[in-house]
Amino acid sequence: MYSASYCAVRHRWEFVLFIGNYASQNHVAWGSLKIRLDYAYTQNSSIGDTAMTSAAPASQYDVVVIGAGFAGMYTLHRLRELKLRVKVLEAGDGVGGTWYWNRYPGARCDVESLEYSYSFSDDLQQEWEWPERFAVQPDILKYANHVADRFDLRRDIQFNTRVKSATFDRQTNCWTIGTTTGEMLSANFCIMASGNLSLPRVPDFKGLNNFKGKWYHTGQWPHEKVDFTGKRVGIIGTGASGIQTIPVVAKEAKHLHVFQRTANFSVPSVNHKLSPEVVKKHKANYKQARAEANKTPFGISGYPPPSKNVLDDSEADREVIFEKKWNTGGNISFLYSYKDLLINKDANEAVSEFVRRKIRTIVKDAKVAQILCPDDHYIGTKRLPLDTDYFETFNRPNVTLVNIKNAPIVEITEKGIKTTEGEYEFDAIIFATGFDAMTGAIMDIDIQVTDGAELRKKWSGGPKTYLGLMTAGFPNMLIITGPGSPSVKTNMISAIEQHVDWIFDLLKHVKDKQYARVEADLDAEEKWVKHVNEVADSTLYPLANSWYVGANIPGKPRIFMPYVAGLDKYRVICDQVAAEGYRGMVLAR
Ligand code: NAP
Repeated sequence: MYSASYCAVRHRWEFVLFIGNYASQNHVAWGSLKIRLDYAYTQNSSIGDTAMTSAAPASQYDVVVIGAGFAGMYTLHRLRELKLRVKVLEAGDGVGGTWYWNRYPGARCDVESLEYSYSFSDDLQQEWEWPERFAVQPDILKYANHVADRFDLRRDIQFNTRVKSATFDRQTNCWTIGTTTGEMLSANFCIMASGNLSLPRVPDFKGLNNFKGKWYHTGQWPHEKVDFTGKRVGIIGTGASGIQTIPVVAKEAKHLHVFQRTANFSVPSVNHKLSPEVVKKHKANYKQARAEANKTPFGISGYPPPSKNVLDDSEADREVIFEKKWNTGGNISFLYSYKDLLINKDANEAVSEFVRRKIRTIVKDAKVAQILCPDDHYIGTKRLPLDTDYFETFNRPNVTLVNIKNAPIVEITEKGIKTTEGEYEFDAIIFATGFDAMTGAIMDIDIQVTDGAELRKKWSGGPKTYLGLMTAGFPNMLIITGPGSPSVKTNMISAIEQHVDWIFDLLKHVKDKQYARVEADLDAEEKWVKHVNEVADSTLYPLANSWYVGANIPGKPRIFMPYVAGLDKYRVICDQVAAEGYRGMVLAR
């Protein structure tokens, strides 16, 4: 890596400017920053070595990681092995990312808990007890906190810190990272661990500020319990978050109105407590289970690859298979029943119709059932939610489905929600309206390079990355589970571990060989983007108006963002890239 003194000189300028703005308000800050500058200027060793010296300036790092969810925590843990000076910046006041913010009633992971957990430490996986097949949010958050404590991560995480800007200087090969409170940090590498579903979106409804009751977004739920007992509640949105929230709130509220624009498929979780025998058996075989998971497209063990196409089986045989899957629970296993379910329209339609039949059987009112039957997308082409009693909830006398497909919401009023057909009065409104997914959290930060490159400009037509890990023109910036990687189409923790391990190897190489700058090659990036699109276009995925293509955000370019060839294939590609001396990347001293 390059000499720390370069970064320090750059720093000197930045802090002088910064102090100029800040000094009039705060003389104490002026003094402390000045001392830091003096320190910075006297460093003259390689950045990796500086990391270990107590004299290293407080705000100068080898790596700044943005986000302390599962990606940020594991990045910090692994990079400590390289003896790098790492700082994690986290907007929340605790670890856990998604599971810190999404505290809505019924929040639960749709990947089984024995799989949706870190594999990097056998001691950790042996000692941790998951109580249920699919973990609830409080248990996952408890686990995240346990990991933070067990691996002493908190000392390098700065909480309550939202990053606002990041600028790379090509002269010094250094990132300057600015926070919303005006703090500046510098680092050789900036790692985006900011999550795929972390920028919640409340639609731009007219009049929201006029509403006299309380309103909530599922992705920014209060820390304290929200009690809906005796309340008239309206919920907008029937994606995975709404589908999990609705049955729980319905049990509490006086009356719940569900505002549905687009009907969604959902399959039962069949969640249950994990028996000690099942846990013991899984733990005894954890190593093999993880190895098996790494060879699957989803990063999950226990589901042998399908061998047949849907239409190879008779209707009666298919019915037996799907009935079994329906009763066993799980969404990934459901979609992994046949080879061509997400490729062939007729095959998919046969499966989609199976689920519609289920909806019509469960929901007693035929008109309500019809509104709940999806008819605008192929099953699995939007994230397939996993529910507990979702469709059953519409049989409750205190639940009303409001079809807003043809009678949209026109405004939020003082009293509630007004559609083109009427006004509904509420004490509380829940927005289960999703996120600016995959690119939102990254583009929320003003990311620039001193040569004039701006990420918001570069990605204005859709994200472009090499392997989902980096984007050409923005050196020393790495993205964990970024657009163009398998990320949300897999077990996220498996995807995170794969990315972080790969980044670890890259930074070790950079450190060992004393490189200063790592950058994706534009040509390699273009080929990767083309490949990601070709793979997507060979499936039914791009046909759905999903957040995978940004369709939920008005004006967002329609680009299919995840890489859907599978985590197994992707892992091989990443390993080959590394083995070939980081093919498609420019490493410079
Ligand atoms: P989502 O899938 O984007 O769903 C948003 C919902 O809000 C949709 O029903 C959408 O309707 C509706 N909506 C948005 N804007 C609207 C408007 N202006 N008027 C009326 N309706 C509007 O968001 P999400 O449910 O939060 O889920 C996002 C992702 O998070 C999931 O796909 C999943 O990957 C993840 N997640 C996972 C779990 C889990 O592991 N169990 C749980 C929750 C979430 P349209 O469809 O018509 O746009």
